[in-house]
Amino acid sequence: MKVTQRIRGDRPVFSVEFFPPKDEAGEADLWRAIRRLESLDPAFVSVTYGAGGSSRDRTIRTTARIATDTTLVPMAHLTAVSHSVAELRQVIGAYAAAGIPNVLAVRGDPPGDPLGEWIAHPEGLNYADELVQLVRRLGDFCVGVAAFPYGHPRSPSPEDDLARLVAKVRAGADFAISQLFLEPEGFLRLRDRMAAAGCDVPLLPGIMPLTTVRTLRRGPELSGAPLPPGLVERMERYADDPAAFRAAGMDVTAEMCSRLLEEGVCGLHFYTLNRSTATVELVQRLGLGARRAEPAGAVPVSG
Ligand SMILES: Cc1cc2nc3c(=O)[nH]c(=O)nc-3n(C[C@H](O)[C@H](O)[C@H](O)COP(=O)(O)OP(=O)(O)OC[C@H]3O[C@@H](n4cnc5c(N)ncnc54)[C@H](O)[C@@H]3O)c2cc1C
Repeated sequence: MKVTQRIRGDRPVFSVEFFPPKDEAGEADLWRAIRRLESLDPAFVSVTYGAGGSSRDRTIRTTARIATDTTLVPMAHLTAVSHSVAELRQVIGAYAAAGIPNVLAVRGDPPGDPLGEWIAHPEGLNYADELVQLVRRLGDFCVGVAAFPYGHPRSPSPEDDLARLVAKVRAGADFAISQLFLEPEGFLRLRDRMAAAGCDVPLLPGIMPLTTVRTLRRGPELSGAPLPPGLVERMERYADDPAAFRAAGMDVTAEMCSRLLEEGVCGLHFYTLNRSTATVELVQRLGLGARRAEPAGAVPVSG
């Protein structure tokens, strides 16, 4: 089933993102999380792709197993960086052969230093809109792209950033997922600006549950989204008490998700870091997904 069939329903949904595990222990953690989330009926689950193909086989294997061994709708990510077009065609062919109908087409960052100089592969692609076109040409895929509520770090202006996002949709993208952020206004502004530009594909907010001090610090570093001063003030008193920090952080995340749902988003996309507990708690608190999962906390999984 296509992602767009799952997110265009009459009630909001949730979806989850995983990364392909590197070893057996990671594999076991991932599958515990997948099985636990499966019972809540996420709209789709996505598996990231290591820039430059570093996770190529693991991404294909993990997403293919989700397609065959679960009831879930799988989506594989694909990055253009360091690949020739011939290599990209092979990966896209492997996705099709594995029965994966959804692809998130992103450019990827230069390996090593995400903000380092971008050097195109001599036989490769330069920007994500070209990858969207390639995926579209090679099969009947539903294609998603990345969006940046506070602009991509390399974008010269918000206007330019919006024009690039619109170009990806014009190239054939069916929906977009946003980079994580810590307050909803930037996301809602981007959604309004997309609509004003005549771009009516669904935009899903990317949500990273605020469970640790590290998440609070690393989030803005990774995403370019600002750290709201009011949030720092609210959270800093819990800096030395991990349990209290987590409780307050989950309240903050739930409040932000509620606001987004009130504003009519069609779904919430959770960055899970291959864990399930925080996502299950939020999904149940917000009344999303199926109601047949065991109570949050019943399974001893951290996260
Ligand atoms: C939901 C989501 C999932 C992601 N998954 C992965 C993953 O699995 N693996 C991974 O490695 N990374 C992933 N990323 C990170 C992503 O690869 C990086 O953020 C990357 O820097 C940007 O990718 P993009 O697809 O937005 O690139 P693009 O849309 O190509 O944009 C890259 C930059 O180029 C500019 N640009 C675009 N087109 C043009 C043009 N024609 N001329 C001039 N400038 C242009 C844009 O404004 C932007 O500054 C993900 C990001 C998100 C939000």
